[in-house]
Amino acid sequence: MDALISLRIRLHELLSTQMSENGHISIERKTRNEAIFRDANEEIAKVREQLTVVDGRTPFLCECEDPTCREIVRATIEDYEKVREYPSRFLLAHGHTWAQGRVVEKKQDYLVVEKTGEAARIAHETDPRTPADV
Ligand SMILES: [Zn+2]
Repeated sequence: MDALISLRIRLHELLSTQMSENGHISIERKTRNEAIFRDANEEIAKVREQLTVVDGRTPFLCECEDPTCREIVRATIEDYEKVREYPSRFLLAHGHTWAQGRVVEKKQDYLVVEKTGEAARIAHETDPRTPADV
């Protein structure tokens, strides 16, 4: 779990430097934050053998819009893959907020949020599983 926390802290530092000067965070910025956490989760999925798996569930980072969020959500790799099949879907801890979208699934440990509008466009554009030139 330590590796996961240090990853989250590094992401937080990265995201903090990207805030606009007037403190306003656009939907684009929020969605890009969420996309960065999604990228991190893709890395976690690849190294999950080294992480503490409880009841067959791997720890993933909450993919909400808050760059300071350190919440861990647990999901089976099968459920995680189901979320990743859709470029506009994100995995969030209960009670956390997101930029533009609706809840499409509620699980015991997490919510699945599907992006709409501008946020969906950015989510597709930044999807690590979609080739950049398509
Ligand atoms: Zn969160």
